[in-house]
Amino acid sequence: MTFIPISIDNYVKKHLALNPSENEKDLRKQLNSALEFYLKGGKCDCGNDIWVIGSAAVGHGCFTCITRESKPDEDYEIDKAVKKSFAP
Ligand SMILES: [Zn+2]
Repeated sequence: MTFIPISIDNYVKKHLALNPSENEKDLRKQLNSALEFYLKGGKCDCGNDIWVIGSAAVGHGCFTCITRESKPDEDYEIDKAVKKSFAP
């Protein structure tokens, strides 16, 4: 399970470059709220730690539940949330 760590600032820059119609303020708000949920120990319904970047877009969930893929492949995660615990 490996993510590419990225800071919120750098992720916001990248995301807005690809999605110029999105609002930076809203994006930051969603990322910060998902990160806060993660840092408080919030989990996905399946018991895994949430994927902050995906959760900011679609609501709290882990990588597997959001993408239906078992492992990240060149996927970003906010640097403060890269360490994850997974339900057995
Ligand atoms: Zn899950």
